[in-house]
Amino acid sequence: MNEYTKKNGKNFFQDLSLTIKETANDCELYQKLCKDVDYDFNRPVNESNLGDIPYVPWSFFKQSNNKFKQLLRGNTFEKLDYWMESSSTSGDPSIVGRLQSDIEVLKQNYNRVFTEFSEKDKVKNLILFAPKKRFIEKIKHTFYGKDSYLLYKSIVDIWYGKDIHYLLQFFLGKTILNMVKTLKARAVIGINGKKLEDELNRVEKNKIPTIMANSPLWMHKVLKDFYEKKKKTFDMSDRFYIITGGGGWDGVKGRIKMGNRVDKTEFVEQMCKMFNITKDKFCDNFAATESPLACGAHWSDKYDDFLFHVDKKYGRILARDINTLEPITQTGKPGVLELITPYGVKSYAGVAVLLDDIIQIENWERCSECGREGSIFRITGRLTPSIGKGCSSLFSMDAYKL
Ligand SMILES: [Zn+2]
Repeated sequence: MNEYTKKNGKNFFQDLSLTIKETANDCELYQKLCKDVDYDFNRPVNESNLGDIPYVPWSFFKQSNNKFKQLLRGNTFEKLDYWMESSSTSGDPSIVGRLQSDIEVLKQNYNRVFTEFSEKDKVKNLILFAPKKRFIEKIKHTFYGKDSYLLYKSIVDIWYGKDIHYLLQFFLGKTILNMVKTLKARAVIGINGKKLEDELNRVEKNKIPTIMANSPLWMHKVLKDFYEKKKKTFDMSDRFYIITGGGGWDGVKGRIKMGNRVDKTEFVEQMCKMFNITKDKFCDNFAATESPLACGAHWSDKYDDFLFHVDKKYGRILARDINTLEPITQTGKPGVLELITPYGVKSYAGVAVLLDDIIQIENWERCSECGREGSIFRITGRLTPSIGKGCSSLFSMDAYKL
């Protein structure tokens, strides 16, 4: 049970004020940020002054800045089992330290999005464009004597109890060949195309309700190749759901560089055609390693894009002007995304985090398409171009074989 469920969310702003104060008390770096802007801790926080809350810029979490340890609150470091690492920027990941209670909030947030925006609870069969947990556990770094893993390791448990078909796998032969050619020990992993095809055939034949999930990058590339090669479509009608998340629409996913941008409209249309499904079967999830908030999205024909929703019980967002960083008050204007939440940030200074994603808020109050309340936004770009610099080619797309 997280802080929110205990209090039934009635005290969002009280919780927020308290969390800001407590974070400043037990995190020196955050205290400094508060001092820099002369933040008044006694002034009640409300909708109109959210923009005054001292925020931590995304760059503070970057490995290269070496500030991530200073962002931990109280004695978190002593109790920390491992660091969480983003897969979003090549070569220079964000590093966040979270204790178990914060990890639980993070998981609940992901779970809620997949349940509310897709059919996670009702569907048992899952095709995951991801490797097994024990593979992820092999990809690790060490900072200050503690191991660091991709965030995925912490949340993969949310699929517990499902019949999971993992498609990403280790290719031993390719790895050896690669080592001989380059004299470097790098694992080659890729999608097991045979497994994918077998599973899709089984799902179609037996009419098994199924969710296909993970980064749109893998799905797009692999299924496009599959379609072009086999010219085969599947009749999944009303029982096939696609959940995407973790970004990747701009063609770079962590240390994997595919070189091709994934056009969202093209992706959605291609999947609809290939599986004979409608656009309401899609769900996208926006979340960042630096914040525990998760925002669910459905497809919108009006915007030709995914529309993201912020549930007011759990958090708020701001769009800040790209040049002045002042909060934007109009809709439809691009700005830098800030995520604000008092829940799931007991271990580190994550109460207000400015990210490098550029968004556009389309409505502050409710979604005109599904009626959900809260801010509605679209992701339109990135401040720092995610060029695959220092790309370590850990993953290989050409490992895909039918
Ligand atoms: Zn909506």
